[in-house]
Amino acid sequence: MLFSQIPRISLLTEPTLLEKAAHFGDTIGHSSLWIKREDVMGLGMGGNKVRSLEFWLGEALEKGCDIVLAAGLPPSNLCRLTAAACCRLNLDCEIIHNAAPSNTKPRRGDSRFLYDLMGVRQIYCGPVDEQARKAFVEERAQELKNQGRNPYILGDPVVGALGYVAAAQELLFQAEQKHIDLRHVFISASAGPTEIGLLFGLRLMGGPDLHVHLVSVEYPAHTFWPIAQEIWQGLCEKLHVTPPLSLQYNTHFYEEYLGPGYAKHSPETWLALRLLARTEGIFLDTTYNAKVFAGLTDLCQKGHLPTDEAAVIFHTGGVPTLLMGEE
Ligand SMILES: *Cc1c(COP(=O)(O)O)cnc(C)c1O
Repeated sequence: MLFSQIPRISLLTEPTLLEKAAHFGDTIGHSSLWIKREDVMGLGMGGNKVRSLEFWLGEALEKGCDIVLAAGLPPSNLCRLTAAACCRLNLDCEIIHNAAPSNTKPRRGDSRFLYDLMGVRQIYCGPVDEQARKAFVEERAQELKNQGRNPYILGDPVVGALGYVAAAQELLFQAEQKHIDLRHVFISASAGPTEIGLLFGLRLMGGPDLHVHLVSVEYPAHTFWPIAQEIWQGLCEKLHVTPPLSLQYNTHFYEEYLGPGYAKHSPETWLALRLLARTEGIFLDTTYNAKVFAGLTDLCQKGHLPTDEAAVIFHTGGVPTLLMGEE
């Protein structure tokens, strides 16, 4: 078994839905479009980080850690889902935000509201960059160690990617059960764990005819590929297996849908979001998924994607951020 030597806890009790988006597909001229609904999960309003947390928290528990530290901007899906998973496991956690503290009472529409409901501690380290935030988290971990605690700093990209190797296995099995001749997979490309884990799993277990389309929401190609290569290599070592197909084989990376930059919307972002809501009653976040749907729509309209070949688009979640004022 692929994961038999690797610590993992169970947070996803069922496979996520694989739904046909017939009305959306008709509207953009695609006849076999499916959505992998990673936004619909039982824990913490769902999202891709739940799969990674199965391995991150598995490792934390195996190491005997008694407190988990996760860091991100206030609307971070990683932070919300880490807090939710720790609540479920009865594990202590601290969420660190690189933002200025706010003294007002947490209210609906404010990212602090959900932490308040969960009773999870948040620390604000000021509006600093990721480097300074990382240093702050390490200092905080040291402080906890000095108090006799055993902290786990969450976020190792290779461990996180394991969750999406597992998702690839789940998707291939589902496609087979539904008799879908899967030829294209779309997913957002950001920090790497999700899309590279998925790609690794698809190359390991899927056929050579499968095209993977990575729509960048953060980095240009020259920044992304070295990160991707490092995660891929890390997975080879951790799983003691090398896929028969390379990282770049039938992999397509798009920079042109990034728009004004990470977490910044463009008119196309909102068009895609509205179109999916109006044709399928499904909501998207503006940071990740709306850009992927905008990219897919554009590729169909330009005739760059064969519109009769089955395509799956991963909806990685993040919908709660749509309702938060900060994003
Ligand atoms: C974190 C996140 C991503 C990106 O995952 P990476 O592994 O960093 O590429 C995509 N979608 C949502 C909703 C996320 O929260």
